[in-house]
Amino acid sequence: MFQIKNKDNLGRTGILKTKHGIVKTPALMPVIHPGKQSINVKDLGAEIVITNAYIIYKNQDLREKASENGVHDLINFDGPVMTDSGSFQLSEYGDIDINNQEVIEFQELIGTDIGTSLDIPTPPYVTRTKAERELKITLERAKESLEYRKEILLNSVVQGSTFPDLRSHCADELGKMDFDLHPIGAVVPLMESYRYKDLVDVVIASVSHLPESRPRHLMGAGHPMIFALAVAMGCDLFDSAAYILYAEDDRLLSTRGTYKLENLQEMPCSCQICSQYTPQDLRQMKKEERKKLIAQHNLNVSFAEIRLIKQAIVEGSLMELVEQRCRAHPRLLEAYRQLGNYLDVMERYDPISKKSAFFYTGPESLKRVEVYRHLEKLNQIPKKSRLLLLPSFRKPYHKYIPENLGGFYKIGSSNKKGNEDLQVMVVDVPFGLIPLELDEVYPLAQNESPNIIDEDARQFVRDLIEEVVEDYEEVLISSQINETFDLGLLDYVEPDSLKIKMDDQTKIMAVADYQFGEGAGAALFEGNIKVERSRKTGKIRHIYYDNDLIATMRASDSYFVLSKEGARRLHSRTEYPRNRVVVNADSEPYAQEGKSIFAKFVIECDKNIRANEEVLIVNEKDELLAFGKSLLNYEEIMDFNVGQAIKTRKGGM
Ligand SMILES: [Zn+2]
Repeated sequence: MFQIKNKDNLGRTGILKTKHGIVKTPALMPVIHPGKQSINVKDLGAEIVITNAYIIYKNQDLREKASENGVHDLINFDGPVMTDSGSFQLSEYGDIDINNQEVIEFQELIGTDIGTSLDIPTPPYVTRTKAERELKITLERAKESLEYRKEILLNSVVQGSTFPDLRSHCADELGKMDFDLHPIGAVVPLMESYRYKDLVDVVIASVSHLPESRPRHLMGAGHPMIFALAVAMGCDLFDSAAYILYAEDDRLLSTRGTYKLENLQEMPCSCQICSQYTPQDLRQMKKEERKKLIAQHNLNVSFAEIRLIKQAIVEGSLMELVEQRCRAHPRLLEAYRQLGNYLDVMERYDPISKKSAFFYTGPESLKRVEVYRHLEKLNQIPKKSRLLLLPSFRKPYHKYIPENLGGFYKIGSSNKKGNEDLQVMVVDVPFGLIPLELDEVYPLAQNESPNIIDEDARQFVRDLIEEVVEDYEEVLISSQINETFDLGLLDYVEPDSLKIKMDDQTKIMAVADYQFGEGAGAALFEGNIKVERSRKTGKIRHIYYDNDLIATMRASDSYFVLSKEGARRLHSRTEYPRNRVVVNADSEPYAQEGKSIFAKFVIECDKNIRANEEVLIVNEKDELLAFGKSLLNYEEIMDFNVGQAIKTRKGGM
């Protein structure tokens, strides 16, 4: 019932199927107050709404109407409806007079699409004993609610207060049970007090332990300021009571924060309401009329933000958007910095290649997945005895190396001379050290950063150089680098006649190793290789062995797309399960025909597979059937039961 369409970082766009139609995620669910609603949220862009089953149950009139004609009729919305269970009321007012069984059965009765069990919303910063005790009850109730569920999709809320390990434990336990969606609960107090940093810990602790195939709902998050960050942490659904609550108070939402009507001289956006009225007009209106218009503006900006986030995921620029949004408030920037402590989690989900370039927007960009991943891969490159560090001029670097390299500083010494033992790297922000052979590979070429370098980036480069120097017998560092990054080197040597040559064979082997792992270059390009360049751009295009095409270097990101011969070589010369996706016997014929592979047919795969990677498709006996591009990462491929996992390029091996 849920499928991923596009991915960026932990964020995803997807499709959620319900009895009353599909919802494109990320989605915002306006909260509908049964019996009080005056705004048609569907006209403003709502695909799904949320209402409260407990409020309906408590009011005799509403209960009778809903029991007879259903909840959709009651709130006059014919699309998907989610209902909440009254847990919020429980947390606000203490005891409520409904039990878990009653609330599930009632939600079945009124025909909700997605129902919720009665959990205990444990607030932030309680004692561990209280958090543990309440979590135990939440888990018991969750288990029990499955017995009462008949037709509806069922939410099960992740609790655990501000104890990350309890949140993870709760997510693990709920993940084992047959639920459909997972709200992350009791986070409103964190957002109300701007404790976004703690929110990051809670959300990552939950999301990283929930099944990939179930949508996650950040409960009570209705301010558009937080949407981009929350999506980047893997949240798919939001609910907004904020649009109406803020309107009640004459407050206007925006991605930059909240505006009070009394302080406004200009309307804050370009929506229909803001174009049509001035703040003066609104102030002169009757309260009810004004509230309705402000609520409409609030929904307009919220839906606009959701659309922008979806577009950013499709083009691979979600983190650029997050970096912009988190500059709206220092507490959000703090949260974004906190997110930088979860690079190992995010790295697993971030696609290997994206459509848009990496933009450096400040020191926080140094803690993005792309940089982390590059440095991890850099560590795996076999070391030579000498290293030459060149300054960056223009990209691609190898094209703009000046004739006269100027002077160098020298650290250590080696008897070895010549190109064989020399590794050439370019020093640049934000990727630090870029081996010359890899200077066209994504994102090492596809990035922009300011030419005026900030102190954090300078320190980052200094640390990196200090570390890498240890791995070589002799390091030559251009005097320009010494100056730009304040390295404070002393041992100056006159330029000797360094010739920097990069042959095609070295380059394609290095790119293959970087893309598929160590040894892949030798596996693919051993023997009498012929490299063909594009007549238009002069860039490497096709690589042949005799007349057989092995691989094509894609112009956009300089990664290889394999041909049949390339796939055969990689398969026969690497060990199972590396670069492989294993499909079951039933789907073998489809794979052979070159049809795309659905996640449910995959029985095993290489744990290192990320989205947008070139992979080999094999059967249980490790016989090569086909090859293609992964759309999901390892965890997602294994967890999903619907939707495509691999876009097959060719079968019939
Ligand atoms: Zn507006």
